[in-house]
Amino acid sequence: MKEEEIEVAIKVVVVGNGAVGKSSMIQRYCKGIFTKDYKKTIGVDFLERQIEVNGEDVRLMLWDTAGQEEFDAITRAYYRGAQACVVAFSTVDRDSFDAVTNWLQKVENEVGQIPSVLVQNKMDLTAESTVTQEETEELATKLNTRLYKTSVKENTNVNEVFRYLAELYLSQM
Ligand code: GDP
Repeated sequence: MKEEEIEVAIKVVVVGNGAVGKSSMIQRYCKGIFTKDYKKTIGVDFLERQIEVNGEDVRLMLWDTAGQEEFDAITRAYYRGAQACVVAFSTVDRDSFDAVTNWLQKVENEVGQIPSVLVQNKMDLTAESTVTQEETEELATKLNTRLYKTSVKENTNVNEVFRYLAELYLSQM
């Protein structure tokens, strides 16, 4: 293969409770759009985006569990072969914060430890937040992950999440 054709492709799974904004994040990142309701129309397993990291072409394939979070058999098929993970919760959904460790565990049960990042989404609703800054930082420390605070709605920090994850992946290759 010629050198310019070499590319790194990373399967990224985006996990977390329903309604935290996983699909929105993938759509935002790969298509540049934000809508309230498109879920029924996706019909694909993943979306992708290519970025350059340290002069290297990296293709991120972002897998979405498409609202099937409660069906373990289905989501486990999504995890297979995952090389990096975004675990997301919503700042206005306490249960989704409490579920983070479980989600990471599920992924690790399937594919072992992979580069991961913790995402606190819906930061545009921070006035209604149900988790304290101390708690989220504690969790990130416990999980040994970096924490990104995003608003997919306002397009804050979304690119940064995936760039960081790609860099982390490359640094551990
Ligand atoms: P998923 O079930 O985790 O994939 O969540 P969705 O992407 O379907 O998002 C659930 C709802 O939250 C949708 O109505 C989104 O429009 C909304 N949402 C997603 N991200 C944000 C955000 O950053 N801020 C606000 N206010 N709403 C968001």
